[in-house]
Amino acid sequence: MPDTTNHAQTPPPSEHHDALLRLIADSVPALMAYFDLPGLRCRFANQGYAAFNGHSVESILGLTVREAIGERAWRAIEPHVERCMQGERVKYVREQTLPKGEVRVIEVNLIPHVSGPGQLAGAFVLITDITERWRAENAVRQSEERMRKFAEATDEAIVFHRNGIIIDGNEALQRLTGYTLPEVLGLSIFSFITPEWRPVALEYTRSGREDPYEVTITHKDGRTIAVEAVGKTMPMRHADYRIVVLHDLTARKKAQEREAFIALHDPLTHLPNRHHLMEQFDLLLAQANRRQGRCAVLFIDLDHFKTINDSLGHHAGDQLLCEVAARIKQCVRDTDVVARLGGDQFVAVLTDIHTPDDAALVADKLLHAMQGAFTLDHQPITMSPSIGISLFPDDGGTGEVLLRCADAAMYHAKESGRGNRQFFQPGMDGRAMEVLQQERLLREAIAAQAFVLHYQPQVRLADGSLQGFEALVRWQHPLRGLVGPDEFIGFAESRGLIAPIGRWVLHEACRQLKAWQDEGLALVPMAVNLSALEFRQRNLVAEVAAMLHATGLEPRFLEIELTESVLMHQTGPVLDTLNDLKALGVGVSVDDFGTGYSSLSYLKRYPIDKLKIDRSFVMDTPGDADDVAIVTAIIQMGHSLQLKTVAEGVETAAQMALLRQLGCDLAQGYLVSEPMDAQAALRWLQK
Ligand code: C2E
Ligand code: MG
Ligand code: MG
Repeated sequence: MPDTTNHAQTPPPSEHHDALLRLIADSVPALMAYFDLPGLRCRFANQGYAAFNGHSVESILGLTVREAIGERAWRAIEPHVERCMQGERVKYVREQTLPKGEVRVIEVNLIPHVSGPGQLAGAFVLITDITERWRAENAVRQSEERMRKFAEATDEAIVFHRNGIIIDGNEALQRLTGYTLPEVLGLSIFSFITPEWRPVALEYTRSGREDPYEVTITHKDGRTIAVEAVGKTMPMRHADYRIVVLHDLTARKKAQEREAFIALHDPLTHLPNRHHLMEQFDLLLAQANRRQGRCAVLFIDLDHFKTINDSLGHHAGDQLLCEVAARIKQCVRDTDVVARLGGDQFVAVLTDIHTPDDAALVADKLLHAMQGAFTLDHQPITMSPSIGISLFPDDGGTGEVLLRCADAAMYHAKESGRGNRQFFQPGMDGRAMEVLQQERLLREAIAAQAFVLHYQPQVRLADGSLQGFEALVRWQHPLRGLVGPDEFIGFAESRGLIAPIGRWVLHEACRQLKAWQDEGLALVPMAVNLSALEFRQRNLVAEVAAMLHATGLEPRFLEIELTESVLMHQTGPVLDTLNDLKALGVGVSVDDFGTGYSSLSYLKRYPIDKLKIDRSFVMDTPGDADDVAIVTAIIQMGHSLQLKTVAEGVETAAQMALLRQLGCDLAQGYLVSEPMDAQAALRWLQK
């Protein structure tokens, strides 16, 4: 504190000089002292210095440095003092514990007092208390350290800039941009942003906005990357010091694009799906309208695709669909649209045709293109499509109507022998409605269990004794009476309705036979037909076991009839299922034998009990020599493989006699009995 009493007097000149010096010295915030040689004794100290070392300005005078600051402090500063005594200005920072125990950080300047050449008279000491500044800087250092750790720990690219000039960045920034930190330091962040996005980024930076925004940046290799940027103005810094976090949006964008693509395309062929097609229709028809032009819609449905799928497996089916898609695309222009509606149905929209003949030409080209064999799993397959054609604006003004018309025309093509094309004509679309109606009725029939089983006996040719029954399903149609399986089984399969029907048949057949057996009748097996689709159900064996358990029928009294197509693909799973059925004790027959595409080698692989010779071979015997030869061969082969042979569709005594002579084991057909309902079968049994 300045000495105010001194100030009040009017001292002599030298005293006045001293007083002024003291006033100044005591007024500055620094601590100051002067020590002279020899001995480095204190000649002057301001109040601050004296008090800092626990003295008064008077009591410190004459003390050596060592005495003035104490032993501990002396040991700490002795080397500095020595350097100063060499004539060097010394500056250092150290901690000093005050007499009251408080620790301060001080910056010490030791300034040698040179009185003449090579003559050292003493040393000035100037001490500034920098505790507050040191603490503040330390805090900043620590927070920067922390900040750097965060910055390196994250995957987000972080860049620091001042007025747009890059002053720092993390490792992720390098990963994102391809540039190393030294390469970008001092450059403008805006130079990395693609020109069209620069105004946005500038605006965000200028106005200090802190909400996220999207920009595109250029990678070192030249590609552009979409990023989300969030800029923050750094707290306690100058307002133009910003930290920007960049999040790479590539993965998100890709996912979004993929999602959008999946939503609009068929995953197998990558063609537009129905939804996408309907959207495109709006556009295409509007364009055609403006041009006053014409469009054609080709509805393409593959013939017998199901058979191929069933016999060769889904993998081959998928391959075929992709190949078909490619061939359709080759037949139309780039501006035309090809879509897959699902299953084996494709649509081609010809966007610019003049006459119906143009559409017919393209359809014929398509039919021709499909004629070449498809190679599926190294197996050549031939296939044909049925094509229905509708015209805009002739047949309808919306995509929906045009599609329905083309669909109806396609049905017409199927009915006209398949493998051809038909134009829509008024009256055709009744067929499409019929299908919907039929599906609705079938669903209702399933819910109401409106089915019955008819039973057809199988007898031993040698002695005419009953050897088994085959259960054949019929639909009790509300309008048409009893409808045979050929009319609805395939349809049920195509509409995904076969499973509940098959389950009902299996249960009913087992239940009925068990009921007869409980009356002491029909101690013979019951054959139940399973379509390929049903056979592929994963839980088939479990289901059969559950049915047997539920009805109490012994497994040896159940026989499963399969068609050849089941046995031709997926050797592993088929074999497993068959083995499991055998293990249950259930018999297996091959139905309609001779009609499949198959090689006969599979017969050896599978645990089969019976071959049922298809009715078409039996029908024309004994008159047709070829058929007699075929039937003979099948019976021979069956015997050599130790399989029982059953002739289907035996209608005449002559056929019966021939089969007996050829050594066929069993016969089934109208000659023995037509399929009978349960009551009639019971009477037949009792007879
Ligand atoms: P399938 O298994 O070959 O059955 C024999 C078919 O030939 C039966 O026709 C039967 O009525 C008929 N049939 C029997 N003997 C003679 C004859 O002497 N002359 C003539 N012309 N026909 C005869 P249906 O009942 O119309 O069954 C047709 C096909 O439907 C069956 O052929 C079978 O593949 C399938 N099917 C029948 N019931 C079921 C079933 O419950 N589930 C499945 N998935 N398919 C079934
Ligand atoms: Mg059968
Ligand atoms: Mg058959």
